[in-house]
Amino acid sequence: MASSDLTPVTTDGLVDRIGRLRAARTATGPRLYQPITLLWAVGRAFRGEPRTLPWEETRAALGHLLSRHGLRGERPRPDYPVLALHGAGLWTLHGSGDAVPSAHGDAELRRWFDVHRPVSGLAEPVHALLRTSGEARVAVVQALVDRFYDGLDETPLLEDLGLYDAAVADDGDRTQARTQDRIRTPDQTRPATPPGADPLVTAAQYERWCALAERREESARGRRTARLSEDPLRSAAARRAVLGRSGGRCENPRCAGQPDDVTDRGDPILEVDHVLELARGGRDHPSQMIALCPNCHAVKTRGSTREELRAVFRAVAAERHLDHLRRP
Ligand SMILES: [Zn+2]
Repeated sequence: MASSDLTPVTTDGLVDRIGRLRAARTATGPRLYQPITLLWAVGRAFRGEPRTLPWEETRAALGHLLSRHGLRGERPRPDYPVLALHGAGLWTLHGSGDAVPSAHGDAELRRWFDVHRPVSGLAEPVHALLRTSGEARVAVVQALVDRFYDGLDETPLLEDLGLYDAAVADDGDRTQARTQDRIRTPDQTRPATPPGADPLVTAAQYERWCALAERREESARGRRTARLSEDPLRSAAARRAVLGRSGGRCENPRCAGQPDDVTDRGDPILEVDHVLELARGGRDHPSQMIALCPNCHAVKTRGSTREELRAVFRAVAAERHLDHLRRP
């Protein structure tokens, strides 16, 4: 059994561990116990909820999710995935007293959990990463979808868990952000380092967001459900890439000047625009999206020169996209 330790984990490390999870297979694909459990925990981390829960609460919440979203015939048995994830070093069990059972003996296993009622949750470093990193959340969601949801639609589960939401891609601890909002006074509206204004987004970071947008695009292609034209996770990944690429400045080469102010979160006042709207066949991809200040965005949307601007922006978006991929 792998022990969960306190070594910080990286997004890549976590994605790699998800790729190596062992799962029982059915005729149509792997069992969904572990992805449902992990996605539930990602949602909890995203909302800043406590890492661990008493067994009764875990059993109730996960049992409900397994009944509702067990698309491959999963039974409402949270003890299965909790034990498996514990074995993979991704889940902690506290107050379990005796050694955790190693065999999947059905009645025996249930009895063990009923007797010991362990307080449990995501391993601490995993929870810490998922609480603060938007990239980690989107990458983990997508890794689980890639690995377990081939041929299935994961969106009802993601919606139920509050993860089908563009804010999932934003960095930051939501509990802390809420506290800061309350205590911030008007003259403290500019943090020293505005998070969205980092001018030095590396090619690697840019590529990672592009890759996440592309993988969501790819998984949508196989399914063709009506709502896939708008996927908040894909859009959010593409948007993060474009904002990073922009360095906090309007990407219109003819921009007459953007506001110097920043948002309450410290982000530059920029809007990310699809050069060609999705409804008209545009693509949710950084190569076809551009960061614009409110003035340029208004001109592009309502100005008499909008069609001419669209052609300019199409070229600018494509060029800046390639430039960023090539950056050292
Ligand atoms: Zn502008």
